[in-house]
Amino acid sequence: MNHLPPARRSRVLHRSSRTLPPRAIGGHGAWLVEEGGREVLDASGGAAVSCLGHQHPRVVAAVQRQAGQLCYAHTSFFTTEAAEALAEELVGHEPGGLAQAYVVSGGSEAVEAALKLARQYFVETGEPQRSRIIARRQSYHGNTLGALAAGGNAWRRAPYAPLLSDAFSHVSPAFAYREQRPEEDEAAFTARLAAELEAEFQRLGPRTVAAFIAEPVVGATAGCVPAPAGYFRAVREICDRHGALLILDEVMSGMGRTGTLHAWEQEGIAPDLQAIAKGLGGGYQPIGAVLVSGRIVDAVERGSGAFQHGHTYLAHAVACAAALEVQRVIREERLLDTVVAMGERLERRLVERFGNHHHVGDIRGRGLFRAIELVADRGGKTPFDPAHRLHARIKAEAFARGLACYPGGGTIDGQRGDHVLLAPPYIVRPVEIDLIVDRLGEAVDAAIAGLPR
Ligand code: PMP
Repeated sequence: MNHLPPARRSRVLHRSSRTLPPRAIGGHGAWLVEEGGREVLDASGGAAVSCLGHQHPRVVAAVQRQAGQLCYAHTSFFTTEAAEALAEELVGHEPGGLAQAYVVSGGSEAVEAALKLARQYFVETGEPQRSRIIARRQSYHGNTLGALAAGGNAWRRAPYAPLLSDAFSHVSPAFAYREQRPEEDEAAFTARLAAELEAEFQRLGPRTVAAFIAEPVVGATAGCVPAPAGYFRAVREICDRHGALLILDEVMSGMGRTGTLHAWEQEGIAPDLQAIAKGLGGGYQPIGAVLVSGRIVDAVERGSGAFQHGHTYLAHAVACAAALEVQRVIREERLLDTVVAMGERLERRLVERFGNHHHVGDIRGRGLFRAIELVADRGGKTPFDPAHRLHARIKAEAFARGLACYPGGGTIDGQRGDHVLLAPPYIVRPVEIDLIVDRLGEAVDAAIAGLPR
């Protein structure tokens, strides 16, 4: 039986049933090749995924090697050389006290595992009443129900409410452009956010809180928003004082994207649990991981001895081999230096192009993780009418010009703001940075000119 009307040409259930995306048939460096041969400059690595660009020969060879040797062995029976070597690469030097890696298939799985590990830690250490998680309203932690409940992204949550878990509560985002009051300096803003978090611990009862979860640089919800100076040190201090864990979601910001391997290195703190994914495997295989502090590892070992959680494809051998090679390339080719240098160029070019633009209110981000925020009126920071879906129009105009960028229209505290997120691969060349900004500039102007009046 054919359930598809003839106009629908695909048996793949796509995100939108109305439009079928073009087929990608190849890629090289920062470019994707469409059926028919058109080349599209991948300015966002999909959703900040393709950190080495496309078809990197070393990673392709590593995948082929591992696939030729062994694709899969279930983790309840075996470990593999690829999994052991990847974990050694990630936590062999115990960055920030992170001592083991739990390797899963993507970002949402990593966040779910981190939340469950936080919970299990307190069950193992005799504080089973710690079941609450505090998160921020401006955050996205994944699309599975637990991760979605942790996140504060109203647009992604709304269609599925009520979400399954009532363990989560939310505090204000650390979003200077929209939340810092005119009378506040950065220190006062940070102090107000810290006081709010402290008050939330008190409201819930500090000994009921298992963890606070946040993205060090917010990605999908608002576009590359770093926290004000001192914010994460204050958060770390509050968590420590109340005996709660700090979970950092570096699914998007991690593995070099912001110029240091982990974004928390720039904050002078380290987490107890860290979720990573996109830049871990660079899109060469589906993979994510939770990096787990020695303290949690020890507690589980002394307690039940097992993390009571698991998926069929844990530490998949081909995925581990791909991620290992991606990480080795980043380290051996000193790509963090490139991220910093190309990130500075990208910022400079964005400021040149949009610094005086009537409809660009903010240019922000770190490393090769940058965004612009669009506003109807710069002075009042008034967002465009959400019904216009300006971010989607910019995406379409950019795509028509051979540029793939990652736009969003997040709703935070009832305010909607359109933004465009850029996350080019670490191997991006200076001419490509310039091309990204040129094409984006044309796309923004065309999209705004095309708005209904
Ligand atoms: N956390 C963050 C910060 C993310 O940006 C994302 C994906 N955009 C996720 C979690 C979920 O990752 P995945 O889509 O791989 O499940």
